[in-house]
Amino acid sequence: MKYDRAERLTKLPPYIFIEIDKKRKAALAAGVDLVDLGIGDPDRPTPAVLLRALANASRNPAYHQYPLGSGLPEFRQAAARWFEGRFGVRLDPASEILALIGSKEGIGHLPLAFVDPGDRVLCPDPGYPVYNAGTLFAGGVPVRLPLLSSNGYLPDFGAIKDAHLKRARILWLNYPNNPTAATAPESFFKDAVRFCKRHGIILAHDMAYSEIYYNGAPPHSVLEAPGAMDVAIEFHSLSKTFNMTGWRIGFAVGRAELISGLITVKGNLDSGVVSSIQAMAIAALEAPPELSESVRRVYQKRRDLFVSGLRRMGFDVEYPKASFYVWARVPHGATSASYSSELLEKAGIVTTPGNGFGTAGEGYIRMALTAPEERLKIALERLKAFVAR
Ligand SMILES: *Cc1c(COP(=O)(O)O)cnc(C)c1O
Repeated sequence: MKYDRAERLTKLPPYIFIEIDKKRKAALAAGVDLVDLGIGDPDRPTPAVLLRALANASRNPAYHQYPLGSGLPEFRQAAARWFEGRFGVRLDPASEILALIGSKEGIGHLPLAFVDPGDRVLCPDPGYPVYNAGTLFAGGVPVRLPLLSSNGYLPDFGAIKDAHLKRARILWLNYPNNPTAATAPESFFKDAVRFCKRHGIILAHDMAYSEIYYNGAPPHSVLEAPGAMDVAIEFHSLSKTFNMTGWRIGFAVGRAELISGLITVKGNLDSGVVSSIQAMAIAALEAPPELSESVRRVYQKRRDLFVSGLRRMGFDVEYPKASFYVWARVPHGATSASYSSELLEKAGIVTTPGNGFGTAGEGYIRMALTAPEERLKIALERLKAFVAR
């Protein structure tokens, strides 16, 4: 007897990272010392002050019961204060903010609230794979929006076919961008809001890297653009900002109607975010700015060290303005997959092939600055020897 998987699972694109993952596991099993720049998961621990807040909150019996749907009022108020302080946009904590079990959860669930079978969802390519997966699970059809270096990795709305536009329900954007590390100018968000208004599309912006920026230039929220509250929902995460990927908490902000659609989906699937983790998140959002500043400083030093080293070796690579990714073109004649495999086998460095994020990512590899400076220096030495061969 055989249990066939539902069609929605068979529609998922093949997992392109599988080959490099196999090689990585085999090398590790053979005792090879790998410098792992593959997965974008912060290597540093969650700040001690936040762990103390979690430990204290865990002793509150009120937090031992089911958390309520949209999050603790105190959490939503703290998120509203943080948001206004950071972006100058005032939100109603009661209707315009929703706690999420990590922003990935909300991103994946949003189409269940607003996409019917056959509807189109505009997804950046290369992009975070969850935009596609969530669309497919809802029966929607992902439409690729190529992000090209010639266009600053911003999508060209004018290039979208009318047939897709007519049925488009959601436009996904993600700045600072994973995997390209691009940022978007304010004028682009204004254009995106106008575009979504004209065509009746939901503007869904993933801002997981809002606080990982360099040279003192904080990225803008899409909600700062005029009229954005009419069309937009924005996803925020504490994961990257506070080294909290393991605790699973994020939040969505934006038009109340969009937030409430997502609440309806979640209310039927989960019972909210662990309350003591919401308390930990309040401590993070209310922490002095030095806390996220210290996280940024670590990545800035790594970025400067690693990217300057790559450039000296002749790699075609920009200094990221934000995020902790380095998006590098592979040398002429190589593909994303072949180069990534070679780096693993001959230099002991794990990278992510760019085509795993979509066909427009072909010709690139992504390296995550989630390894200490000593390891990045070793990676540079190995690369130097590899390139010299
Ligand atoms: C890491 C990441 C997320 C998800 O973060 P959570 O841990 O689920 O909050 C969302 N979008 C992008 C682009 C990411 O890289």
